[in-house]
Amino acid sequence: MAKIIDGKAVSARVRAQVKEEAAELKANGISVGLAVVIVGDDPASRVYVNNKKKACAEVGFESYEYALPAETTEEELLTLVEKLNNDEKVNGILVQLPLPAHLNETKVINAIRPDKDVDAFHPENVGHIMIGDFSFLPCTPAGVMELIADTGVDVCGKSCVVIGRSNIVGKPMAMLLLHKNGTVTMTHSRTRNLKEICASADILVAAVGKAKFVTADMVKEGAVVIDVGMNRNEEGKLCGDVDFESVKEKAGAITPVPGGVGPMTIAMLMRNTLTAAKRQRQQTK
Ligand code: NAP
Repeated sequence: MAKIIDGKAVSARVRAQVKEEAAELKANGISVGLAVVIVGDDPASRVYVNNKKKACAEVGFESYEYALPAETTEEELLTLVEKLNNDEKVNGILVQLPLPAHLNETKVINAIRPDKDVDAFHPENVGHIMIGDFSFLPCTPAGVMELIADTGVDVCGKSCVVIGRSNIVGKPMAMLLLHKNGTVTMTHSRTRNLKEICASADILVAAVGKAKFVTADMVKEGAVVIDVGMNRNEEGKLCGDVDFESVKEKAGAITPVPGGVGPMTIAMLMRNTLTAAKRQRQQTK
């Protein structure tokens, strides 16, 4: 049976390290601040924003919430982003996605100052990730890399398969695995022979958004299986993309949902915010 990778424990370690460094900065009179902008009243977004605020409090950051009504105009939102760009207390800016349909997400993300873009969604940061000289890690894929490291499996030379090619998970995930010298295959909805490709993977990362999508016949004996998916099953319970019960009998290591990748995303956001504060401090020296 597979080793169950404990995302809660790994994320607690990352947060503890961030907390320690934040305390050192505070002792030198520097506080770290994250601004979180939420537009509208999507219940899932509200939960994510609350969790981010809680994580900020835990590691000793200031958090500034801007909860705007659903009918906020693009101009109003861009004005707020500009204000936060120029606010010295704010080291990181996060605009919770998705935005209401009348707002252009790309335009809003592109308006965030790249050195405050702690989600690493700005094209400048995406470019840095592609090249490999990045300061900000894309939060979810970076969390996955921490979890893989925790298994003790070295990515170098391994066959890595990523299912999904979104800008926030699949693409940067493939890049991070490539930077660690994995041999990476990106797959998507048009991929032929998906089952065979997945079954060849030493490391399989699923970011599809479909419950029980990855079944045991798609998994190589002993593989590391990382489940990024966050779906609801028939009973409304949170579940991933992997058929956990059958796959855990075949994999070498596997992340559960909940308790796997989810807690890592916020921990990496905290790390990025700390990095942002340190870099901005150096720039003003
Ligand atoms: P997304 O933008 O909807 O992308 C899904 C990807 O899956 C697409 O690239 C799509 O291919 C591919 N796909 C869909 N059906 C497929 C099929 N039959 N075979 C192969 N590939 C298929 O989703 P996302 O934003 O990347 O998120 C993926 C999942 O991760 C979701 O469940 C989301 O909730 C979760 N998530 C979790 C965290 C976390 O912190 N744990 C963070 C972010 C996302 P095409 O490109 O061809 O359409």
